[in-house]
Amino acid sequence: MTERVGVDELGRMFRGAAARIREQHQRLSELDCVAGDGDHGSTMLRVVVQLEQAAAGVQTAPRELLRDAGWKVMGVDGGASSSLLGTFFAGMADLPGEGTALDCREFAAAFECGLAALQRQTKAGPGDKTMMDALVPAVNALHASATADSGLIDALRSAAAAAGAGAEATRNFVARHGRAKYLGEKTIGHPDPGAVSVALLFDGFCRGLEESKGEVEYAGRG
Ligand code: ADP
Ligand code: MG
Repeated sequence: MTERVGVDELGRMFRGAAARIREQHQRLSELDCVAGDGDHGSTMLRVVVQLEQAAAGVQTAPRELLRDAGWKVMGVDGGASSSLLGTFFAGMADLPGEGTALDCREFAAAFECGLAALQRQTKAGPGDKTMMDALVPAVNALHASATADSGLIDALRSAAAAAGAGAEATRNFVARHGRAKYLGEKTIGHPDPGAVSVALLFDGFCRGLEESKGEVEYAGRG
């Protein structure tokens, strides 16, 4: 069973996330047509290409891969979301230690470092109808699961569920940050595109890690 996350597992998580964004990028742009300028799906496609490229590198420690991924994503020619997500991934590399594989608590701590970095860049918080509405509950759920020793897959599943619920809840909110803040109540009834993307990323991370768990078990049987 996958109980530690090294560069291979992170790579699978990134590829899982890329698959989910590719499935849904049109919807992301449609949501951004309601809330902004309609480019969010195409920006997210470029973001996940960078995650995949980072995962194809030769890094040996999660920190190196996360830092590389973060800088690559920050370099995407896109809108607010690529800069914010790049900051998040690069911030995940702030976790202490040089280990080649993270246990569940270290894994959750990396996400908390990413969120802390992002919170230095934006004042948006839960309720403001941004990606933070998905990210904050996801990171909190990861932390709670890690503290309860629930295991990596369960921790990531609960994070993905929290991100999904957080994104869905943005339907009812009025945006206070980003382009959508100029639209007032016009976006009520539509979820925030960035929050939906974060929920897709976590769902993809989860699927990617589950896939690696299956392969480890299969290899064990052979
Ligand atoms: P842009 O708005 O520059 O075109 P995107 O369309 O790629 O960028 O991304 C829009 C998403 O970025 C929004 O749905 C929101 O989730 C997120 N976002 C925008 N500004 C902020 C901010 N200041 N803080 C947090 N998230 C933000
Ligand atoms: Mg946009």
